[in-house]
Amino acid sequence: MCSFKKWFHLFIIFHALAATPIFSLTDSSDQHSTNFLDIAKKAEVFDWMVKIRRKIHENPELGYEEFKTSEVIRAELDKLSIPYQHPVAVTGVIGFIGTGSSPFVALRADMDALPVQEMVEWEHKSKVAGKMHACGHDAHVAMLLGAAKILKQHEKEIHGTVVLVFQPAEEGGGGAKKILDGGALNNVTAIFGLHVLPTIPVGEVSSKAGAVLAGGADFEAIIRGKGGHAAIPQLSIDPVVAASNVVISLQNIVSREADPLDPQVLTVSKFQGGGTFNVIPDSVTIGGTFRAFSTERLEQLKQRIEQVIIGEAAVQRCNASVNFFDEEKPLYPPTINDGDLHKLFVDVAGNLLGINNVITNMQPDMASEDFAFYQEVIAGYYFALGMKNGSADEPVQPLHSPYLVINEDGLPYGAALHASLVTCYLTKYQHNIAKVEGKHHDQ
Ligand SMILES: [Zn+2]
Ligand SMILES: [Zn+2]
Repeated sequence: MCSFKKWFHLFIIFHALAATPIFSLTDSSDQHSTNFLDIAKKAEVFDWMVKIRRKIHENPELGYEEFKTSEVIRAELDKLSIPYQHPVAVTGVIGFIGTGSSPFVALRADMDALPVQEMVEWEHKSKVAGKMHACGHDAHVAMLLGAAKILKQHEKEIHGTVVLVFQPAEEGGGGAKKILDGGALNNVTAIFGLHVLPTIPVGEVSSKAGAVLAGGADFEAIIRGKGGHAAIPQLSIDPVVAASNVVISLQNIVSREADPLDPQVLTVSKFQGGGTFNVIPDSVTIGGTFRAFSTERLEQLKQRIEQVIIGEAAVQRCNASVNFFDEEKPLYPPTINDGDLHKLFVDVAGNLLGINNVITNMQPDMASEDFAFYQEVIAGYYFALGMKNGSADEPVQPLHSPYLVINEDGLPYGAALHASLVTCYLTKYQHNIAKVEGKHHDQ
């Protein structure tokens, strides 16, 4: 990574002097983009992706339990003669296509499902009670395998190495962080990730440079008082009233302490205590989530949440302890897209889909995504891929809904974009290094 950074900085300097765009498309990359979409739509790739997606959809697995999903991926990579590393981060698989040497560029697909009972009646409905691919990660895996199949067929044209990252536990488990901690992506200089989006039509994509998703973390607090008879409150210390005051005081953090132009969210979504009419409980448990667009803000929120809970509980004569799940659910940083990769994305997606189908001013969202962990250490780019199902007037079922239906016609677009982005990135990387070296020798 260091050598790339050195070259990249030199390259930026030379380009600044030459006043030319950093990424300029070549004819060959235009051709790649178009070809890849045609190839991805062929039955040989499309039907194969659909089959894999349905197989994974029928057998959803939660974070760090994606053993069967991982098996399906490895079996397909074996058939394609693509070498891989396994296990990485428990169930993760990392495949390699290309020269085996630098530069390295990565594509990421998450593999985990959600604890949701599928309510859609169809032939390939989830066979596991209470679990469903309600976030479309089954489609992510199928599209990355689709890209792998296409890229393997063009391996000789790849000027470097494409790293396929099949990652566990995106939904709260921070699988991306575990992949990075294992060192498997140490040499990677850029990474691309996508998410299916049921609100935009197939054939359209949406993203932007800079912040696209907030960072966030969860908290839980136990507020302890002294239980007793509900009709004799003077002999108890009531944690229900204390917790109620805590919830109200927490609302003041964002409304009174945050800059109104700097979006932040603090929601208390869990409140559990007591079980009957005539008993004051010993304790109440509350919990929730907080979101912001910088790690610094998140740390400030975290500190204030703890202070307010403990302080307000004390006012009500209660004790409180706060848990931020630092180990099992790490704080997700905000998802910030690299500006140069955004230019590359607009060029590649514009060629592939037509520029009118590329939305470049996506509205940022307060949801979080563990792709952000990669972007903390690698230049990264994350975009939304249209997977709208049904006609324009049908109500859209959002991600995480038990009624979510993925439009499989979108699969070839994801596979082709993945394949086009990395081949164009590597082609430009080669060109840019050559230009930098040329200039360097001239001096
Ligand atoms: Zn999700
Ligand atoms: Zn997701």
